[in-house]
Amino acid sequence: MRCGAGIDARMVDELAINIDPIQAGGRLTADAMKAVIAYGDGYSVCDNCRKPNRLDYITKPPIAEFHKDLAAWLNMDSARVVPGARRGFQAVAHTYAKKGDPVLLTSLAHYTEFLAIEEAGGIACEIPANDRYIVTADAAATKIEEIKKQYNQAPVLLFIDHVDYQYGNVHDVRGIAKVAHQYDIPVLYNGAYTVGIIPVDGKSLGADFVVGSGHKSMAAPAPSGVLAATAERAGEVFRTTAITGDVTGRMFGIKEPEMMGCTLMGVTLVGMMASFPHVKERVKHIDRELENAGIVHEALLSIQGTKILSEFPRKHTLTRIDTTGSFDTVAQSHKKRGFFLSSELNEKGVAGIIPGATRVWKFNTYGMTREQATYLAQVFVSIAQDNGLAIA
Ligand SMILES: *Cc1c(COP(=O)(O)O)cnc(C)c1O
Repeated sequence: MRCGAGIDARMVDELAINIDPIQAGGRLTADAMKAVIAYGDGYSVCDNCRKPNRLDYITKPPIAEFHKDLAAWLNMDSARVVPGARRGFQAVAHTYAKKGDPVLLTSLAHYTEFLAIEEAGGIACEIPANDRYIVTADAAATKIEEIKKQYNQAPVLLFIDHVDYQYGNVHDVRGIAKVAHQYDIPVLYNGAYTVGIIPVDGKSLGADFVVGSGHKSMAAPAPSGVLAATAERAGEVFRTTAITGDVTGRMFGIKEPEMMGCTLMGVTLVGMMASFPHVKERVKHIDRELENAGIVHEALLSIQGTKILSEFPRKHTLTRIDTTGSFDTVAQSHKKRGFFLSSELNEKGVAGIIPGATRVWKFNTYGMTREQATYLAQVFVSIAQDNGLAIA
């Protein structure tokens, strides 16, 4: 089967259990797939756009209502949809950071935060994680004091990833935000791995901004995401345009420059909306997801020489593992070298592990059934046994 233009049909999640860390939470729901087909045309959400002309005012389909629901669900005051979490970071960084301003993030921060700071002309200042790969409020306080000495000013913004992309560890957002607020530093909560996976209460965590990723964690098409703000900060990042054309004298009303007017205009937004009821429900069942992850962890840890580098007990289904003492010892003498692992996983119907990785790698069990988790656990053990590794 071909899509034309040299494009093969993609059949990954149809044919395999996909444990790719970045793909598990973004898989579309059946409702999102229907929405994608119905709203594939460009500007398709604009059929019923009336004055004042802005995406978040459209009532058919119920886009205005969706914006209100999103903000309420995150316990924030207003929300906008954005083309990916990174565009949310960009809007906020551009609002607060000017050339030479120090901006805080962490030693586990995602690269898109660095790029957002770079584009605004700011300086990236990393709060170091501790030896257990956790970022603490004490470390944030120490870093702020260091920055004040070095730059003669407090940082203008703080990015904190609630769950980081490297270890899937949970960091003390509430404690860190409390410290930041003592210096009047606005706090951007990066929920790329949490919004749509676990319940997120922005205000109780002390967030001025909550950013989520539609295609990573909200079962939405790419590029999509959400940027929510408190009432206090919304007027800053969602300020309206003030520019005038010098010949025509034109002005552009309520369009928001950080959003470039309107953002998601078809598939992305309507796909996100169609998945939203499912996403609201699924965050209540993270305990089941963690049980499934636990089944897989237990099996992996039974393979002698295997270590899990993420914190325990696990609070998220993204896990970093070190198999240098197990699967990598097989790779040393296997005729396929390091490719044996991904290749044997693929043969057994498991996709999403980087080909050749046998030392430190990540996987995500999110969205599996209990049967799939049990099967995946067996697959890891049987590959280990077939290759002569000891099982505890
Ligand atoms: C994936 C990821 C991002 C980027 O998300 P996009 O929606 O693709 O822009 C940002 N931060 C973290 C922690 C991530 O894991």
